[in-house]
Amino acid sequence: MERFEISDRRFAHYVLANAPLEELATGFRWIEGPVWMGDWNCLLFQDLPRNRTMRWSEAAGISVYRAPSNYANGQARDRQGRLIACSHQARCLYRTEFDGEVRTLVTQHEGKRLNAPNDVVVKSDGTIWFSDPLYGISTDYEGGRQISEQPPALYRFDPESNDIRVMAGDFDGPNGLAFSPDERRLYVAETGDQTSDTPRQYIRVFDVSPDGRRLSGGDVFHKVEPGYCDGLCVDEEGNLWSSAGDGVHCIDPGGRLLGKVLVPRTVANLAFGGRKKNRLFIAGSQTLYAIFLNRRGAQWP
Ligand code: MG
Repeated sequence: MERFEISDRRFAHYVLANAPLEELATGFRWIEGPVWMGDWNCLLFQDLPRNRTMRWSEAAGISVYRAPSNYANGQARDRQGRLIACSHQARCLYRTEFDGEVRTLVTQHEGKRLNAPNDVVVKSDGTIWFSDPLYGISTDYEGGRQISEQPPALYRFDPESNDIRVMAGDFDGPNGLAFSPDERRLYVAETGDQTSDTPRQYIRVFDVSPDGRRLSGGDVFHKVEPGYCDGLCVDEEGNLWSSAGDGVHCIDPGGRLLGKVLVPRTVANLAFGGRKKNRLFIAGSQTLYAIFLNRRGAQWP
């Protein structure tokens, strides 16, 4: 099977002719939320319907990091390096402190419970941005059916002040998100109302105000096909790497598809990692894949 599909000549320089798509581990139920832990030299990710956070390292392979995980999904590290995770079942964000204590950060907005936080990023000012669609509480598979108390939304949470605010409410199903390297843009996947025959599914782009407190825009940036964008990440030059039905799609800051890393299974989420941040870890349904690229993941400004 071909590993790449090149739509734009630039993409030929982004991939490595002799780097294989490696299958690191398989047999999971559905994997999600990869995050690279550079100081631990490992990847953490979720086996979501199995209610476990898994760990992979080159030296030791696969082990369980945390079980139960409270049906955790997206993960990110804050500026201090602490792990932040979205929990479907507990309908919260939680943070793992340096001593191992797991602290609940936020469960509510205006007195109503969050739905099922799905994915999360941390901005350089320490604020935590996350999506809160209904998916995780609409079935018993990924956390348990529960009643929604408020519409889906994209939130900004400030862990210093505990201020939580809706940054965009006009989503059917906000999902993966990523800032551009200069943090002037925020990309958010809309994965739609999945009870609809024709769910809205595309990546939106917002402009972030200089003080980081407001978003504007929100237009459709790119529509991934086949499948849709669930999780996404950004490289050092601001290209987006999006999950898709046939692998990973690379999209330039103008919204143009540059090429694809073809993966034999549907991809849900992905993260750059490794010592040089040039290894893309891919959560592909039941299988964890990785591939070395001639790109590096974005650095924090
Ligand atoms: Mg997601």
